[in-house]
Amino acid sequence: MADFVHTLPFFYGNITREDAEGYLKQAGIGNGLYLLRQSRNHLGGFALSVLHSGRCYHYTIEREPNEKYAIAGGKSYTSPVDVIDYHSQELDGLVCLLKKPCNRPANMQPKVGLFEDMKEKLIREYVKQTWSLQGAALEQAIISQRPKLEKLIATTAHERMPWFHGSITREDSEPRLQNGLRTNGKFLIRQRDSKESYALCLLHEGQVMHYRIDRDRNGKLSIPDGKTFDTLWQLVEHYSYKPDGLLRVLTEACPRPDGDIGRPLLPRDHPGLSTVLHSAAGGIRSMFKTVPIPGRKKSQGSRQHPTDNFNAYDTRVPNSQADSIEAMPMDTEVYESPYADPDELRSATVDRKHLFLEDGELGSGNFGTVIKGIYKMRKTEKPVAVKILKNDDNPSVREEMLREANVMQQLDNPYIVRMIGICEAENLMLVMELAELGPLNKFLQKNKQTTMKNITELVHQVSIGMKYLEEHNFVHRDLAARNVLLVTQHYAKISDFGLSKAVGEDQNYYKAKGHGKWPVKWYAPECINYFKFSSKSDVWSFGVLMWEAYSYGQKPYKGMKGNEVMQMIESGSRMDAPVNCPPEMYTLMRTCWTYKADERAGFTVVERRLREYYYDIAQ
Ligand code: ATP
Repeated sequence: MADFVHTLPFFYGNITREDAEGYLKQAGIGNGLYLLRQSRNHLGGFALSVLHSGRCYHYTIEREPNEKYAIAGGKSYTSPVDVIDYHSQELDGLVCLLKKPCNRPANMQPKVGLFEDMKEKLIREYVKQTWSLQGAALEQAIISQRPKLEKLIATTAHERMPWFHGSITREDSEPRLQNGLRTNGKFLIRQRDSKESYALCLLHEGQVMHYRIDRDRNGKLSIPDGKTFDTLWQLVEHYSYKPDGLLRVLTEACPRPDGDIGRPLLPRDHPGLSTVLHSAAGGIRSMFKTVPIPGRKKSQGSRQHPTDNFNAYDTRVPNSQADSIEAMPMDTEVYESPYADPDELRSATVDRKHLFLEDGELGSGNFGTVIKGIYKMRKTEKPVAVKILKNDDNPSVREEMLREANVMQQLDNPYIVRMIGICEAENLMLVMELAELGPLNKFLQKNKQTTMKNITELVHQVSIGMKYLEEHNFVHRDLAARNVLLVTQHYAKISDFGLSKAVGEDQNYYKAKGHGKWPVKWYAPECINYFKFSSKSDVWSFGVLMWEAYSYGQKPYKGMKGNEVMQMIESGSRMDAPVNCPPEMYTLMRTCWTYKADERAGFTVVERRLREYYYDIAQ
């Protein structure tokens, strides 16, 4: 929601309460004049300032764990604007009805806070260092995981601040403040023995004052009897402009003696960082079980489960084990190509001696069976999925599989199942990255508690993979929820390139020679009528995939035959929205089902729309 709020003329950004009063009083004496600003103590929250009888009143609009907004104790709404609309009709505890917005002066942009300013750089640096990513892999990690990364950075950003001195004693802190310039208001924050609390040490008239900062059961920080904050940097920002009970305002950060201002962010498994994350997660963390994540990076096996890192503000109690997994795609072994490591030689073939097949099938299809295996590479061992050709001696089937391998070999994207190589042995085998949780439709059928946010996260990832295919002139031709495989509950990859084709840049479609065994219910009208396949027809299929995802793996056009579906489409009808489907997502499905291919959006637009919606609900 925040993005849309930023465009409102009466949103002022990160201004102080006093500034808000200044603007309101300047604007007039009208009762019910109001403005909206960013909360300076609640992450993702807002503050509403209202003028009534010459006085200003301020209300916090908190962002609740269910992603709704409410003035404490009041009704919840999907956006702060809905809260405002409600209070323009109903007092419900407010001093007066909200009558007129107080718009920003001409040429004034919403004020960007200290953290907002730093955020971009911090996220980039963090992803780069934690997962050693660069280039496209780095960009895609940020695009797909921004809301989680923002939360993580927000709760750990203080570690980068010069005023944060870590776990030092009271005795150690005093000489640090007394050294050098003894400016009134010079300060530092230290961690106290208890992992749940800190101390603010402030120089006042040559003496060091120590204020305890406690963390309550909800993970909020406060100096006793003071305001509550989600993060230490918000607390510092607040007391830097207002003493609010302290002897004076904070003026100057006391630098750490090692002078390591701006040192690189600590790696994610650094004890210091995990301590902060632990305390941020508070009691909530203990509600989450730790389960192994398929495909998890070996080097990080002993690290604190990343789930724990992100639940500081997520009070949902998980309904299943699977729901407790909040791993990021970059935490798994299949985010980057195994050949991204220059020590692993890229080869289209896999040596049978290095491939170890396990018992048990992952699935089966037209070609044969897919089973799990281990591929021993030079430096590492990879869990893999091996597609084993059934009719090995049938040349056309062999050719088909080799064609699929040829397409896959040309693709390298975190949201696409990569081919590791072809193995010619007792059978022809296609060795691929493992996506152990299997097809998306089956997963959702079995996991009905999966949240809309989670579904949107996965569908967004599929759109990132499809945007990549579109940019590289490949058409998939079999995009459906059954062909999206899950690595974790939060990581999807597009698979099954059996029907895929490379298309020319000029003639950006593929013309099939005839009608084959086609997934008609996923096909756009031009595929059926003219055998014409392009990224735009993949967009149509993507709309059907979205419908499948938001209906928890139901079959599209249930009970209808292929020709009935075609008639329905030709008559201008489309499938109804799945039950409880967010209206924004149904609108996007309808956009994907635009009849004429050249009027249909491409994946650049589809991905952007999904991204905006996902960031909105996940912030
Ligand atoms: P069809 O052409 O009928 O769609 P197919 O012969 O191409 O089938 P796939 O769909 O590729 O076979 O695979 C069949 C099943 O095997 C999948 O539904 C999935 O359950 C499993 N599977 C395939 N690839 C992988 C993988 N990389 N990781 C984990 N499981 C996989």
